[in-house]
Amino acid sequence: MSERGKVKGRVKLRTSSRPLRAYRVPVREIVQGLLDLYPGARCELVYRNPYELLVATVLSAQTTDAKVNAVTPELFRRYPDARALSEASPEDLYPILRTLGLYRIKAERLVALARELVERHGGEVPADVEALTALPGVGRKTANVVVANAFAIPAFAVDTHIRRVARRLGLTTSSKPETVEREITRIVPKRFWITLHHALIWHGRRMCHARSPKCHICPLRSVCRAWRSGEVRPARGTADPGTP
Ligand code: SF4
Repeated sequence: MSERGKVKGRVKLRTSSRPLRAYRVPVREIVQGLLDLYPGARCELVYRNPYELLVATVLSAQTTDAKVNAVTPELFRRYPDARALSEASPEDLYPILRTLGLYRIKAERLVALARELVERHGGEVPADVEALTALPGVGRKTANVVVANAFAIPAFAVDTHIRRVARRLGLTTSSKPETVEREITRIVPKRFWITLHHALIWHGRRMCHARSPKCHICPLRSVCRAWRSGEVRPARGTADPGTP
């Protein structure tokens, strides 16, 4: 059963309720609030196997999941596995990927990645962060996404939404991905890493936007470090009596 499948109804967290030392935030309430708010949070890239998830995640750099999902059906129809993709040239992929930003670079990366997958791993995607990050074009975030979602191995990938939302909430003191990952995985039990990762991303996409966070309707406001400190303000015209 996947990690997500184990989370039914209200989650009993054994995370320490002691405030995170740096910001004095109630970690348990924040994590529980996020999991309650987004019980169906999941990866929004469409994929059927580890190869497809790895390719889709590489393509998702600096673009939206929706744009990636629009091109991958044709990409996977033409190149259904790493071996088929390894025999393509980057130029072959241009017409399929051209609606994505940086599509030429991404095409080169995908072909190089597929060739290394075939050469080093017989065309299979390794279920291991270190082995994945040794592949060309695969960073730690991509590797964590793949092992967590394709193999249900606890891992905590940090993307731009997580860096912003976790820092605002006070779950981390840093916006450096490695530090965010280290601090969050230290205070949250392993079995919640995957669902918390998705819940933070969903909150960042749906409410805690970079420019105009919807603090006026955010259920996490009372425990949010950025709100309580006045670091964020609601969008104009949405202030309410709860504004500090
Ligand atoms: S209160 Fe505002 S800044 Fe804090 S988590 Fe909610 S939307 Fe984000």
